[in-house]
Amino acid sequence: MTRGPDTLAERSRRAVWHPCTQMKRHEREPLLAIARAQGPWLFDPDGHRYLDAVSSWWVNLFGHGHPQLRDALAEQLATLDHVMLAGLTHEPVVELSERLAALTGLGHAFYASDGASATEIALKMSAHSWRNRGRPQKCEFVGLAGGYHGETVGALSVTDIALFREAYAPLVRLSAALPSPDTRHAAPGEDAAAHARRCAASLEAYLDQHHERTAALIVEPLVQCAAGFGMHDPEYLRLARALCDRYQVHLICDEIAVGFGRTGTLFAHQQAGIRPDFICLSKGLTGGTLPLSAVLTTDAVYESFYDDLASRGFLHSHSYTGNPLACRAALTVLDLFEQPIDGEPVLAHNRRTAARLTALCEPLNAHPRVRAVRQLGMLWAWDIDDDGVVGFSSAYHLAAREQGLLLRPIGNTLYFMPPYVLDDGALEQLAGGALRALEVALA
Ligand SMILES: *Cc1c(COP(=O)(O)O)cnc(C)c1O
Repeated sequence: MTRGPDTLAERSRRAVWHPCTQMKRHEREPLLAIARAQGPWLFDPDGHRYLDAVSSWWVNLFGHGHPQLRDALAEQLATLDHVMLAGLTHEPVVELSERLAALTGLGHAFYASDGASATEIALKMSAHSWRNRGRPQKCEFVGLAGGYHGETVGALSVTDIALFREAYAPLVRLSAALPSPDTRHAAPGEDAAAHARRCAASLEAYLDQHHERTAALIVEPLVQCAAGFGMHDPEYLRLARALCDRYQVHLICDEIAVGFGRTGTLFAHQQAGIRPDFICLSKGLTGGTLPLSAVLTTDAVYESFYDDLASRGFLHSHSYTGNPLACRAALTVLDLFEQPIDGEPVLAHNRRTAARLTALCEPLNAHPRVRAVRQLGMLWAWDIDDDGVVGFSSAYHLAAREQGLLLRPIGNTLYFMPPYVLDDGALEQLAGGALRALEVALA
C-alpha cells in the first residue's frame, strides 16, 4: 500500500509541538491548516473560510491583512528592521512610548515580546523598586483566584489556574490568591457591587496582615479572561486602588487581554477612574501582527531606579526589546483607533456592533443549557451546563468549524472575542452558528 502525500496537518503533528495542547488530542481533532487570512476571515488551503471569532487568541483587532498595517510594516522593513535598544534608540520606539504615555498617564515604557515577559518585568520592577527604597522585605505578590498572567515560571507564581500550574508547583514561589470579584461567585441575592465590596474586604484583611512583605497586587481589570471570562464590577478596582495606597502596595493592571477597546473603553481600568502603578500591555498592541509587550509605570517607580549605581538600575532585557517593526505596527494600531470605521469612531462603532450581536444572541441566551449570560464591550460569554459531556470544548470547537467559525471554549465557557470589523452577515453567521454548534456538541 502506498502512502498518499502527507497533509500539512500530519506534518505539523510530527514536527511542531503545539501550544497549550495535549498533543494526543489531535488523534481525534485534526489540526486546521490556514493558508491565508483577510479581515475577520481565515481561509484553509481548500478555500473554506472561518470567522476568527476569538481574534486568533485575543490578538487581532482590525482584521487580518489590514492594508495600513501591511504598508507600514513594508515601509519599516525597508527602512530599519531591527537594532538593539541598549545604548541606541529609534523613531518608532520613541514615538510609541510617547503616545502610550499620553493615553495612559503612565510612562517610561519598557518593552518585551510577549505578555508573560511583561508580567515578569512588572513583578521584578515592583520588588526592585521597594528594595531601592530600603524596603527589601516587600518582595511578595498577591493576585486573585483564577488570575492568569502568563506561563513562564515567574508569571505562574501569580497565575491561579491549577491546570497550568500544578505540574510546576515545585518550581514556583506561589503567591496568595484572594477571593475574586467574578460575579459568578456572588452569593445568592448579592449584586455585583456588593460582591466586589466583600472581596475587597478580604483584600483589606490580607494586606492588613501582610503589607510589610507585599510588593504588589496584580489584577486583570474587569474581566478574568483565561478563568472563563469572569467579569466584575469596577467598584473592586476603586477599592483595591485605595487599599494599595493605604498599605503602600503597588497595583499592577494586566491589560494584556482586556486592553485596546475589548471592554468598551480603550483600557479596562479607565472604567473605574483609577490609575494603576503599572500597566502590562501586549496581544492587541500590534493588532495581531507581531509579538510585542510593554510595561508602563509611574515617575516614582522610575525615579527609585535612577542612580549612579548600576545595581540600582533595572538590568533586564530581551534580544528584541523595542523591535522597530513591532513598534511600527503598534503605532499603526494607535492610528487606526483614531480613524472612523463606517463613519464612526472605533469605540462608538463597537458599541453598535455589540448591540447588534447581543440582540442576535437572544436565542443562544435562551438555550436551556446556557447559564451566566454576560457581555461587556466586545466580549461575550456563556457557561454551558454540559451535563458531564466528556471533551465538550473539543466537541464544540469541531462543531463550530462545521459552521465556518473559529471558536474554542475554555472548559465549559463559550465566548466570543471577535475583531472589530464584522459586517451583518458575519454577525448573523456567528450568532446562528454558535447556537447550532451548541446543539451538535451537546447531542
Ligand atoms: C495572554 C495573557 C498573558 C500572557 O501573554 P503571552 O503573550 O501569552 O505570554 C498574560 N496576561 C493575560 C491577562 C493574558 O490574557
